[in-house]
Amino acid sequence: MEDGNTTTPFLDSDQDDILNGSSIPQAPEGFKSGFIAIIGRPNVGKSTLMNQLVGQKIAITSPVAQTTRNRLRGILTTPEAQMIFVDTPGIHKPHHQLGKVLVQNAQIAIDSVDVVLFVVDGTVESGGGDRFIVELLTHTQTPVILGINKSDEQPPDSQRLDESYAQLAAPNNWKFTKFSALTGDGLEALQQLLIDHLESGPYYYPPDLVTDQPERFIMGELIREQILLLTREEVPHSVAVTIDIVEEDPKITRILATIHVERDSQKGIVIGKGGGMLKQIGSAAREQMQKLIAGKVYLELFVKVVPKWRQSRLQLSEFGYRVEE
Ligand code: GDP
Ligand code: MG
Repeated sequence: MEDGNTTTPFLDSDQDDILNGSSIPQAPEGFKSGFIAIIGRPNVGKSTLMNQLVGQKIAITSPVAQTTRNRLRGILTTPEAQMIFVDTPGIHKPHHQLGKVLVQNAQIAIDSVDVVLFVVDGTVESGGGDRFIVELLTHTQTPVILGINKSDEQPPDSQRLDESYAQLAAPNNWKFTKFSALTGDGLEALQQLLIDHLESGPYYYPPDLVTDQPERFIMGELIREQILLLTREEVPHSVAVTIDIVEEDPKITRILATIHVERDSQKGIVIGKGGGMLKQIGSAAREQMQKLIAGKVYLELFVKVVPKWRQSRLQLSEFGYRVEE
């Protein structure tokens, strides 16, 4: 059996060792590397794509829009290149403090990467939401690739849809390619296109690492994912999860986590009748966590009301969201 402690390709909470470079090899002649921002409207499949590209579930996904909050990096290393994907929240017009932070983060991501991968939903025609993003992208020097996702679910008259996206790409001379993040179809061609757009560069991370986020962060995300999936529309996105204690035993990993909500009513929904909902959330999240660490997990969840956390920049950063000035 695998020992989750030594083989798990995640950073430990002490990231310094790895980032100091001791385990990063010298890149061979002609090796390419760079940072690729995955941007697009909510729900087009950005997180699904990142997970499929790195071959492991690191970003949470759901049919509910706005699942991804923080900037999360996924790392794919091949013999010829290292691609570091930056998963951004879906871009939309901001309504509150969290919304503003999300759009700001996306803008910063666009300008600070080597390539932008603009993902669109190939099952629907290009629309206003895409144009808002095109607007953001025309102001950047960064090369852009348009990725038409969900090819597996395109209707028979898909040509009409593809054409609407070709028209989006044409004025800026963006290359475009079609794929399915769900089935993996077309992703090799996408990878090649991305590598073609990268310059020579070093290994930024050890070749076997799939994300820059500590395991704790991913664990919190796995809990948040189950809350979004199981409570659906009832609990909006006013949920944050902190992992308070991780105790590793040779036989079992004991995890204590707190779910922070904004209102008493949401607390009620998350806990559910007789604690039923919280139990469901816990057991589904526990299963995902066991896959992540390849070992047994004991999970205990608490629910806490923190009024208006989304309005507060301080709270946002305490919950681990990157708040840019
Ligand atoms: P994000 O908000 O852009 O990160 O989107 P997610 O990755 O969370 O995906 C949103 C929804 O679209 C989820 O229900 C995914 O399963 C679904 N999805 C993502 N990629 C594909 C795809 O290639 N084909 C199909 N049919 N569904 C997809
Ligand atoms: Mg996402």
